[in-house]
Amino acid sequence: MNQVEADIAIVGSGTAGLASAIAAAEKGAKVIIFEKASTTGGTGNMGMGPLAVESRLQRQKNILLTREEAFKVFMDFTHWRVDARLVSNYLNKSASTIEWLEEMGVEFADVISYFRGSYTTHHLVKPPGGIPGPMATAAMMKCMTDRANELGVKIYLQTPTKKILKEGGRIVGVIAEDRDGETIQANAKVVIIATGGFGDNPEMIKKYTPYEWGRDIFSMRIPGIAGEGIRMAWEAGAAETEMSMQLIFGMPGTALQWVAAGSLFRQPNLMVNLLGERFFNEEIMAANTAFTGNALSRQKNRCAFNIVDEATKKYYAENGLDFVSPVFPNITMESIDAELKQALDEGNENVFVADSLEELASKTGINADGLRKTVDEYNAACEAGRDGLFNKNPKYLRPIKQPKFYAGRLFPSAYGSLGGIRINYKLEVLNKDYEVIPGFYAVGTDVNTLYGDSYIFALAGNTMGFAVNSGRMAGENAVEYIRSIAN
Ligand SMILES: Cc1cc2nc3c(=O)[nH]c(=O)nc-3n(C[C@H](O)[C@H](O)[C@H](O)COP(=O)(O)OP(=O)(O)OC[C@H]3O[C@@H](n4cnc5c(N)ncnc54)[C@H](O)[C@@H]3O)c2cc1C
Repeated sequence: MNQVEADIAIVGSGTAGLASAIAAAEKGAKVIIFEKASTTGGTGNMGMGPLAVESRLQRQKNILLTREEAFKVFMDFTHWRVDARLVSNYLNKSASTIEWLEEMGVEFADVISYFRGSYTTHHLVKPPGGIPGPMATAAMMKCMTDRANELGVKIYLQTPTKKILKEGGRIVGVIAEDRDGETIQANAKVVIIATGGFGDNPEMIKKYTPYEWGRDIFSMRIPGIAGEGIRMAWEAGAAETEMSMQLIFGMPGTALQWVAAGSLFRQPNLMVNLLGERFFNEEIMAANTAFTGNALSRQKNRCAFNIVDEATKKYYAENGLDFVSPVFPNITMESIDAELKQALDEGNENVFVADSLEELASKTGINADGLRKTVDEYNAACEAGRDGLFNKNPKYLRPIKQPKFYAGRLFPSAYGSLGGIRINYKLEVLNKDYEVIPGFYAVGTDVNTLYGDSYIFALAGNTMGFAVNSGRMAGENAVEYIRSIAN
């Protein structure tokens, strides 16, 4: 068994782990990171960018949201069911974290609001090609990895941590296993857990959330994000928190998720459940994917069908979509017919085409009488220009009249999990009696219970924002702790 010594051992080199490492190393700590994957970055490689409030970029764009306002939005949204001090610390730190990242070479292309009605907090990372988009944050992870290396942080890749070591109530290190199967014991004064949650662990999803992966949730599974840090922390005495999924919605079959066919069924058109009933103001699909996931979750089999007729499909092909995702702003409907045909040819179970409503009901399993009644009511609302049920904006009232009829089956999805390890606002891990376990910190998704029951899309960039800021705060706090025990 190899033995290594460090002030701080960090488990995971994603957004939060790298931020912890850099913050601590900048204050002079000797830091090592054990990373299970063959590269750094974790889920942090997938996204567009973090939240900040009152950043230089926001001031330049005359975005006037203040920290105080953002805090109020956050706490009103969560009904104060979350750690207010942690929220406050995170928001107050967020602007300086953008500058901190810029000093490492991270460039930000823009700051946007993710959906209509959300605040302009989402700081989009500029990737090497210059155009922000999915996976742009890999550029941020690279700058952070370079900065960590420059500061002398030793990163062991393909070396998963297996166990947290504890002696006399204090955390004293970890056991990891390198790519050759050799055991490494790292002796450290502090351990920081940053393993990104359990989004790639269907057993944990089933056990700790209301969902079953592949049945009623089709969430993103970033390889290796298997809840190991959470399990190890519990074994070392950490208390559990509530655990949930960072809910959104989608049409399973990711190839279709965002291209033309997927986009066709993310528009504010008639949506019914298996009873054939409306349950939702469909324009919320653009305003808030988390709320859409919530509404879908309440339906039978946790699914619903977004339905358009030939006239609406043609309208979109000629005029463009009502809603365009900021993630894929350049989608057109040019390939829609070819894609729908391909989906059907490949036997995609979530795309349906029919010549009549009866046939659509039979293919989808929607109650035929319910569907007929709802379509009649909906078409009457379209004609009257008024949705008496949910007050949908009349401009989105497009009737279902002209065959063919198209339906996409939508389910809850998620970016990953949320929560697992109980911490305080200093990111110190707590036991069941709310006592601090000395030398033990946890950050990022493994501890993120900041949103209450729904992801707060009103302040976009929030999970990465929390990951990078919680990591940074934990790194700084850990150094203070080490200094305090040295005196
Ligand atoms: C497609 C997609 C897009 C997203 N876009 C955005 C966005 O634009 N804005 C936003 O705010 N959020 C976004 N998110 C969410 C955001 O990326 C995450 O919230 C954030 O990266 C979480 O950081 P983390 O450090 O907690 O976990 P991660 O970044 O996932 O890092 C965890 C690391 O731990 C490692 N690990 C796991 N187990 C072990 C072990 N036993 N030993 C050692 N290492 C281990 C993993 O390999 C990984 O490298 C997106 C997520 C997805 C899936």
